[in-house]
Amino acid sequence: MTLAWNQDSVANWSMTEQSPCTIFKAQNVAEILEALATARMQGLSVIAHGAGHSYTDAALNTNGVIIDVTDMRRILSWDPEQGIMQVEPGVTLRDIVRVAPADGWWPAVTPSTADATIGGCVAMNVNGKNAWKYGSFGEHLLSLTMLLASGQMLALSPMNDPELFRAVVGSAGLLGIITSITLQLRRIPSGSVDVLVRPAASLSEILTIFQEEQSADYIEAWVDGFAGGRSLGRGIVTCAKYRDAGDGNSVQPQMFPVSDRLKEECARCIGKMGRPAVKSGVRIANSVLYWWSKWWGKKVIRQRSLFQSTYYPPAMFTGYRTLLPQGTETFQAFVPRSQAEVLFKEIIRCSQENHFMPLWCVIKQHRQEPFLLSYQVDGFSLEVNYQIVPQTAQRLRKMLWELMNLVIVAGGRFYLAKDSLLTNTLYRRSVGDATVETFLQLKQVYDPEMLFQSNLFRRVFQASLQ
Ligand SMILES: Cc1cc2nc3c(=O)[nH]c(=O)nc-3n(C[C@H](O)[C@H](O)[C@H](O)COP(=O)(O)OP(=O)(O)OC[C@H]3O[C@@H](n4cnc5c(N)ncnc54)[C@H](O)[C@@H]3O)c2cc1C
Repeated sequence: MTLAWNQDSVANWSMTEQSPCTIFKAQNVAEILEALATARMQGLSVIAHGAGHSYTDAALNTNGVIIDVTDMRRILSWDPEQGIMQVEPGVTLRDIVRVAPADGWWPAVTPSTADATIGGCVAMNVNGKNAWKYGSFGEHLLSLTMLLASGQMLALSPMNDPELFRAVVGSAGLLGIITSITLQLRRIPSGSVDVLVRPAASLSEILTIFQEEQSADYIEAWVDGFAGGRSLGRGIVTCAKYRDAGDGNSVQPQMFPVSDRLKEECARCIGKMGRPAVKSGVRIANSVLYWWSKWWGKKVIRQRSLFQSTYYPPAMFTGYRTLLPQGTETFQAFVPRSQAEVLFKEIIRCSQENHFMPLWCVIKQHRQEPFLLSYQVDGFSLEVNYQIVPQTAQRLRKMLWELMNLVIVAGGRFYLAKDSLLTNTLYRRSVGDATVETFLQLKQVYDPEMLFQSNLFRRVFQASLQ
């Protein structure tokens, strides 16, 4: 058997890094093994690659090998009574919600993109709009299989090897290649939700609404990053609640209709047209959105499809990426509850003062998770996205490093799937030396020749390169 391989270059989702590498597209475990052997023979390191939806360098391996597992896309088994599904790593969330909702099940935790692979979701231990209630993706795994650098296949579960399981979930593909995953899905009463939309005049009001709406199933707040002074931190909180099964709705989620391509084309055109006036356009759109919601007041949108309320439409990404061809810098700070208001204010204020206007800001609530490289804390996260302009990119990073320091001092953390700024020193300060040492010791045991490496590994875990 000879594997198809390609010399090419791969970009991260934020479009900030182009990485030349060799790409193997594996269809099965035998092909992964062959790719590992070839890489080893050539003295190259390897990292698994899913849908490439990480904003960062987690799935990049410059001058090394990436093994693309997106063709390993079979649902291996489905138990509609228990909601237990076993999948190959390249199966996406979209694939799962094509099957499970008809039987009344939905992924317990899901990011806002339907096209992330399940392997990628486990490897980054993703979180969703229900993170404060249901934790992270890894908390809903029953078991997984992982291929080690030695070629040995490990079967792991929270019961049979809790320490290794705790380390593998969220380990960014650095301990081995996940080849199958068994998930416990969550029972849902219906495929639609009622969405309560509440405008909030300040950050403090946003955080209060989170407290008041704890009975919701999903909560997320959008913040107007352009509003300053007394309006700083104004935004809109959306709280979604499952509708009762008795309302006659099918649990089958509404998928994207046929006109998707048309929507994407329109988004591309709008994105191109908007390029000369990104900041003023977003400023105006934000104000219109906020004042519109204020005018409506508290409003309930009934019977919204669960699918549409969970996942951003692909056309939106197309528009966003066309609008910002030089990419975006994301800063997502996870901070303890007591520090959230002060730190979030400081992040927005400091950005505005330095003329780095936050284009897109989102707040979510979280709880601590039990994994070794965990990033969620009991509290909240603020995600801020900035336009990258080459002339000011270094100044932006400098400002964000300073903000990172504040977050770390306050006991906050950062998420390896979205943060490109962490250095080894900052990462160690945020999660603690002991955590990093434990991880590196496990890597030494399970991958002694350091076969599995990525740009992220070299940036965050290898001190010598700082
Ligand atoms: C529009 C958008 C919205 C998002 N929203 C959220 C959100 O709300 N919450 C959130 O938590 N994240 C969010 N993300 C981030 C995204 O969910 C994660 O980065 C996820 O890991 C992407 O999965 P992927 O298949 O694209 O993995 P990739 O980006 O391809 O890979 C991610 C990591 O997983 C590893 N990996 C992939 N497959 C395997 C495997 N089989 N075995 C071992 N390691 C593997 C890779 O080596 C890499 O380290 C969002 C991303 C986008 C683009």
